[in-house]
Amino acid sequence: MEKICYNSTRGIKENLPASCAILNGIAKDGGLFVPDTIPFIGDKLEDCKDMSYKKLASFIIGKFFTDIEKEELDRCLDLAYDNKFDSEDIVPLKKTKKAFYLELYHGPTLAFKDMALCLLPHLMKVSAKKQNLKKDIVILTATSGDTGKAALEGFADVKGTKIVVFFPKDGVSEIQRRQMITQTGANTRVIGIDGNFDDAQSEVKKIFNDADLKSELDKKGYVFSSANSINIGRLVPQIVYYFYGYMELVRTGEIKLGEKINFDVPTGNFGNILAAYYAKKMGLPIKKLICASNDNKVLFDFLSTGTYDKMRDFIVTISPSMDILVSSNLERLIYDISSRNSDLVNKLMNNLNEDGKYTITEDMKKELNSFYGGFASEQETLDAINYNFENYNYLMDTHTAVAHAVYKKYVDSTGDNTKTIIVSTASPFKFTKSVMSALDSKYTKYNDMELVDIMSKISGLKIPKGVEQLKKNNVIHKTTCEKNEMKDQILNFLLNK
Ligand SMILES: *Cc1c(COP(=O)(O)O)cnc(C)c1O
Repeated sequence: MEKICYNSTRGIKENLPASCAILNGIAKDGGLFVPDTIPFIGDKLEDCKDMSYKKLASFIIGKFFTDIEKEELDRCLDLAYDNKFDSEDIVPLKKTKKAFYLELYHGPTLAFKDMALCLLPHLMKVSAKKQNLKKDIVILTATSGDTGKAALEGFADVKGTKIVVFFPKDGVSEIQRRQMITQTGANTRVIGIDGNFDDAQSEVKKIFNDADLKSELDKKGYVFSSANSINIGRLVPQIVYYFYGYMELVRTGEIKLGEKINFDVPTGNFGNILAAYYAKKMGLPIKKLICASNDNKVLFDFLSTGTYDKMRDFIVTISPSMDILVSSNLERLIYDISSRNSDLVNKLMNNLNEDGKYTITEDMKKELNSFYGGFASEQETLDAINYNFENYNYLMDTHTAVAHAVYKKYVDSTGDNTKTIIVSTASPFKFTKSVMSALDSKYTKYNDMELVDIMSKISGLKIPKGVEQLKKNNVIHKTTCEKNEMKDQILNFLLNK
């Protein structure tokens, strides 16, 4: 099999094997790791048709992480995709009269982040062994709400690791907040920051690139890595469910093998939809990738104008996991559509740092034709939840609702009736307050936890285990800090204990 190496989007040539790219998280020059080639499996779709989720994952991930042996990878997959998931399919595909929903939220923390973060700790352990790494890995994570808990769940009590999570203290749902601050595990630390996700993410990136800090911690036996979707170990496992969703449509006779479909993805950091783009490049028959944003519609503007401009107000919405103005993974797309021109990527990323914006070339713009950008307002999001529950008895969370609202705009403006899978990224039980208020204003008088029971009663959906537990869990993490104190908080945790 062809060996695949990983290099930075910004030009430094290290030719690292996958295990090193996973351990490092981010490249030395601040760029993101990308595979040398994207393996093509378009001629093997027939083989994929009847694979279980784990078999498919082994096949696809194995093509990318070529220095991890099949037996090792399969062991990781067995540990990741087990009965932590409350669906045997792992990612069930649901159908209403209007659309198909690929439900990626049946893992332990009720959001799609589990799909990769159940696996990442095991991949890191295998990688650390392979590279003979003797130091403890410190996972630094900025979260807009869902990555934090999924990473904590994955890394809690994993030997040889510690994990620090920073979340915007006023920017997540009550259920998301409780999930994080009740996290057990001596190797975990959760801190609320006075700021938004972009503040947390940019500070974490700075800390990653702080050479003095790195050498200080190195002496104490620590090395940083990332569980954000800048880590290639997050991105590659996310390709799998696009193939799985497609094959499910084939298996149920909705489409013929080879027929093109659309995917509609609620987008923030551009990780999930980038995995779909990689799937398309691997040969999955995809017509359009619908990129759905909320009121922080920086990606919509980028796709329509070719200019990425973060200089605007950050808006706190009811789909908080998409409240992002700097979509990190877009750098990997820019790299790809510039024919892998690192000099240009460097220039554009410098522009973003210095002027808050950049503009791509006309040639690059042409390469964006597989994407359609759209956005949904808060009211459109609420309407989508209400409409789908009233008409199809299908209850969706606020992020999926953004995608649904954008899908409607897409169909209205293009007339395209190609079969479309809407990627459903979180359980409605994570956002009870917003979801229930979309159904009826009478629910606004209840708090988030009370609404859990009411939601279960009116929808007939079982309360997920992860939410049921929150009722009795104690608050463990009470620390909050300013963003310029994040580095000190990390040092406190690592050195003073
Ligand atoms: C993280 C998240 C998103 C956005 O995914 P990206 O990979 O950041 O684009 C959408 N919905 C939910 C529920 C999420 O947790």
